[in-house]
Amino acid sequence: MGDSAYPPSWYAATRDVSTRRPSLAARVEVDVAVVGGGFAGLHAARLLSQHGQRVVLVERHRIAWGASGRNGGFVGPGFAARSGVLIDRLGVEHARRLYGQSQRGVAIVRAAIAEFGRSDILMGEAKLSVSRTDQGRDFADRTRQLAESLGASFEPWETARVRALLDTARYHQAIHDPKSFHIHPLNFALALAADIERLGGTVHEATEATELSRTGSGWRMRTQKGEISARHVVLAGNADLGRVQPRLAHAVLPVATYVVVTEKLGPSLTEAIRWSGTISDTRRAGDYYRVVDSDRLLWGGRITTDTREPPHLREMMRGDILSVYPQLGDVRIAYAWPGIMGYAPHKMPQVGEIEPGLWACTAFGGHGVAQTAAGADAVVAGILGDNARWRLFAAFGTRWAGGPFGRAATQLAYWGFQARDWWDEKRQAKNAETLRT
Ligand SMILES: Cc1cc2nc3c(=O)[nH]c(=O)nc-3n(C[C@H](O)[C@H](O)[C@H](O)COP(=O)(O)OP(=O)(O)OC[C@H]3O[C@@H](n4cnc5c(N)ncnc54)[C@H](O)[C@@H]3O)c2cc1C
Repeated sequence: MGDSAYPPSWYAATRDVSTRRPSLAARVEVDVAVVGGGFAGLHAARLLSQHGQRVVLVERHRIAWGASGRNGGFVGPGFAARSGVLIDRLGVEHARRLYGQSQRGVAIVRAAIAEFGRSDILMGEAKLSVSRTDQGRDFADRTRQLAESLGASFEPWETARVRALLDTARYHQAIHDPKSFHIHPLNFALALAADIERLGGTVHEATEATELSRTGSGWRMRTQKGEISARHVVLAGNADLGRVQPRLAHAVLPVATYVVVTEKLGPSLTEAIRWSGTISDTRRAGDYYRVVDSDRLLWGGRITTDTREPPHLREMMRGDILSVYPQLGDVRIAYAWPGIMGYAPHKMPQVGEIEPGLWACTAFGGHGVAQTAAGADAVVAGILGDNARWRLFAAFGTRWAGGPFGRAATQLAYWGFQARDWWDEKRQAKNAETLRT
């Protein structure tokens, strides 16, 4: 608690200077108390402050110390649960409205960046979701149909177009989204915190919310050295909420994933990747990456429910990079770090009022940079009296994520997905070989 520094990452090494914020050591009364200084809490506190609410935000470590300061920096619509699954489960109209809410999140992030007017946040435009297996002749029609159902801006790209930009035989077709973009997430989070303060809100670091109790029509929240009375409380603690609200803490499963940034690779990188947007493959736990700082590769991937850092993280990730771009040869890793995502069993965020005046805005999984803004927007609308947006998420309750049993089940499911993805690729490679001979 109260760490003096951010965990080492390329983001921490290139971050904006931020003033340390004091821990809470007093008794305060506000309209809304927010737990968690990641994107979910920051967006909620900022949007509430914009509406004239008195807000205090408490963060156990430092602003964006968790997933928000360590992620891939991809900003785009959709959720961790796939859109096709949501259509099957909820019907087209509901899935389309949820997707629309995620687009609203993208717009909130875009507008905030424009408003801050800083040159150290926005890093590039557009996204390619590439397939490692041939999607067949009807790929383009299926993709256009899904985009139309959702009201989405993505479009199909054929294999030749993908390979003209990405010099690897691993990839086939792609889905191109021109409206996605990418950012320096830690700088964005620090700018959000500064903006909350400019708007009159208060932000405390090194302050853990430890206890929550109801008082008449409001809530009392204790921290180590302080106490907050508030009409509303927003719980935005991701997978690490702790004892302040055990029910929600138990509903979110921590899943680790990793990011590395290479040394500067020179022209070999820009010859292999002639694309300034983001790239991710469509496997269940695939690779995601982008070029940063002109010629460094920022590469993320893998998931595991074992949240300890693996001993050979750099070698492991280097192997993943070379399996796609062997021509990069002697890739040296300059930075490597883990991050924790919070998942509910259904992979959808937990957004909404769980008791009168007690709001959840959490469990965004691996799709959270824009989705946290979407969730915060829905919760803030609810606090201000409009319940329509958060009710879009009501189908996904705060079910127990299963503790250690949930972890084991998730790990097993992941290994199953990995095996299925591996099998699909091998089967296609074998079919292609048979056709050639
Ligand atoms: C390595 C990695 C790569 C990713 N890449 C992408 C990507 O490219 N695009 C994308 O959209 N998503 C990505 N994600 C997911 C995205 O980063 C998360 O969904 C999002 O940042 C979650 O934000 P959050 O505010 O809910 O959680 P966090 O950022 O984890 O913030 C929660 C905060 O709450 C604090 N907290 C918890 N409990 C308490 C308490 N009791 N008292 C005080 N403070 C408390 C924690 O210290 C923490 O700082 C990635 C995630 C990881 C880990």
